[in-house]
Amino acid sequence: MREEPALPEFDPAIPVIARVYDAATGGKNHLPADREVFEKMRNLFGRDRWVTPATENRRFLRRAVRYLLNAGVRQFIDIGCGMPSRVNVHDIVHGVDPTAKVVYIDYDPLVVTHYRALVHALPAATVFQADVRQPENILSHPELTELIDFAEPVGLLLVAVLHFVADEYDPRGIVARLGEKLAPGSHLVLSHMSADGQDPRIAEQFTAAFANMRDPLVMRPRARIATFFDGFELVPPGLAEGAEWNAPEDEPPASGWLAVGVGRRTK
Ligand code: SAM
Repeated sequence: MREEPALPEFDPAIPVIARVYDAATGGKNHLPADREVFEKMRNLFGRDRWVTPATENRRFLRRAVRYLLNAGVRQFIDIGCGMPSRVNVHDIVHGVDPTAKVVYIDYDPLVVTHYRALVHALPAATVFQADVRQPENILSHPELTELIDFAEPVGLLLVAVLHFVADEYDPRGIVARLGEKLAPGSHLVLSHMSADGQDPRIAEQFTAAFANMRDPLVMRPRARIATFFDGFELVPPGLAEGAEWNAPEDEPPASGWLAVGVGRRTK
């Protein structure tokens, strides 16, 4: 039987993905235990290339949010939002429409503390702690229901989070449950690590680097990741490399480890 996950508490000794990803994207909100994991990955990829999947992902996220804004989306739910960075979802969204709504959700208490400091004074943004593996808790959370009108289009961001959800928690079912709440015109933005086409030995070492973390990394085949978009129509170019999704000409090359897509809900 699978266990109902308890919300994690802050523990500086256990490396956690929010802080490792912060290290990998040049942030300052990480600790020695996180840095150790990040150094292992850096050595694995070679010192020049180590950041590629993480920075590729961040750049995709920002482009996808701009795409949704152009498509008229004015409400965003960012699950597994990660540590704040230089340019956050609400910075992009409020640059276009200061009244547009942004709800940040993460199960990591430190992420929530950092975001709370940033958004507490903003009437159109909020943050709360919840686990994506418990979608009902998210959908019924008062911080969410107060801000989000599910009769209007929503941008649901599941960016670099589902590869920390083991199969036993049914990641496809989680997306389906969240997706069925969304009105036509809503969009799903999703990115996920995949080892398709990679050297299996490197993939194994990559996964092993995460082994002592709270939730291990689960790489999935691209064909499986595509099924997470059931109920959505993938917008061009479909499921793609992060660096190849509606990217400018000078975008750094794809790492080859990151599958991304944006799907539109039509009914
Ligand atoms: N979405 C951000 C981005 O793409 O820049 C951050 C991605 S970071 C790699 C993954 C985030 O997902 C972390 O902040 C982590 O705490 C969060 N996360 C992992 N598993 C989660 C879960 N079961 N529920 C909620 N958040 C989770």
